[in-house]
Amino acid sequence: MPITPLMPVYPRCDVRPVRGEGAYLYGERGERYLDMAAGIAVNVLGHGHPAVVKAISEQAATLMHVSNIYGMPLGETFAAALLAKTFADTLFFTNSGAEAVECAIKTARRYHYANGNPERHRIITFSNAFHGRTLGAISATDQPKMRDGFEPLLPGFTVLKFNDLEGAKAAIGPDAAGFMLETIQGEGGILAATPEFLTGLRALCDEHGLLLILDEVQCGYARTGRFFAYEQYGITPDIMAVAKGIGAGFPLGACLATEEAAKGMTFGTHGSTYGGNPLAMAVGQAVLDIVGTDEFLAQVRATGDRLRGALEQLLPNHDHVFQEVRGIGLMLGIKLKPGAEARSFVAHLRDEHGLLTVAGGDNVVRILPPLNIDDSHIAECIEKLSAAARSFAVAEAA
Ligand SMILES: *Cc1c(COP(=O)(O)O)cnc(C)c1O
Repeated sequence: MPITPLMPVYPRCDVRPVRGEGAYLYGERGERYLDMAAGIAVNVLGHGHPAVVKAISEQAATLMHVSNIYGMPLGETFAAALLAKTFADTLFFTNSGAEAVECAIKTARRYHYANGNPERHRIITFSNAFHGRTLGAISATDQPKMRDGFEPLLPGFTVLKFNDLEGAKAAIGPDAAGFMLETIQGEGGILAATPEFLTGLRALCDEHGLLLILDEVQCGYARTGRFFAYEQYGITPDIMAVAKGIGAGFPLGACLATEEAAKGMTFGTHGSTYGGNPLAMAVGQAVLDIVGTDEFLAQVRATGDRLRGALEQLLPNHDHVFQEVRGIGLMLGIKLKPGAEARSFVAHLRDEHGLLTVAGGDNVVRILPPLNIDDSHIAECIEKLSAAARSFAVAEAA
């Protein structure tokens, strides 16, 4: 194969977007796509939202980057506004989800170190998860396609079965630092932690002095119709990784923590050149001002209910392809029948019907649209799904 300018780590498809407008993307030849993938749960306000464009343009012209050696007025204001909507007391800004996860792992280890228990370093994680691509984040997962050839990975992780509370309990030992999980697994195929599992983990943490780390990079930031997905469980974590929606397309992430859990993250223990720079902070504030309001969250819940309802009506009409709908808010998944492969159906939707979705684990087609879509987008999405199901040839299941 000839060398390409971009490392060929992605199986890139033929959609080559050059412009976006609201929920639509346009390719090099002017083709139009309804974007129900939103950069994989990133573009929460669609493409080219005026408030985001304005924040970026004005801040770029005012001050883009300085350094974290200086005071950061915009960062302080944005952090305080964000924290006020969460369980957390303090945060660290990053440029990506994986960096937020790294900071979460480091914060947990430092907590036990600061308490005089450096042996408590092992993070218990769960199978089918995705936490990003750094060495720390892949060490926290058990998926060979992400890990093979990168060994030796970081020691100090145990990967257990998701939603198995007894297994989690049995894995606690004198070296355990805490649990880390996605409140709702995204890449894994829109699989939510059960209420018994998550509340059970919280109780185990309280009983054994462990930290509960949530990775809400995909399910957080209004995606489920709550600001963060943990709110639906009536528990709070000690540490949480956030990214994707927080910047609405601008690279931004954050690791949030309670004051207690962050007690080891003292002067000099962590850093980032770009993390929390003025441009990122201006965008973050503009996005939060919109998606952090009760009205916006209520609208996401209502839109999600309508989309889910429409999907539930559609599915039985094409039961050679569709099996079930899962998810909440605008984090939805359609599980396909065994004979229909999610990746092929996503390609068929994209190439023949101009509808962008994302394949996930467990043979699921993920629907992760901009959070400000309206009924016309729902109708168009349903129409395209229906047409695609009719024209999709399903291999006979053996
Ligand atoms: C996308 C994702 C990440 C990684 O985020 P990057 O910005 O790609 O580093 C981590 N955790 C979850 C749950 C994600 O969905």
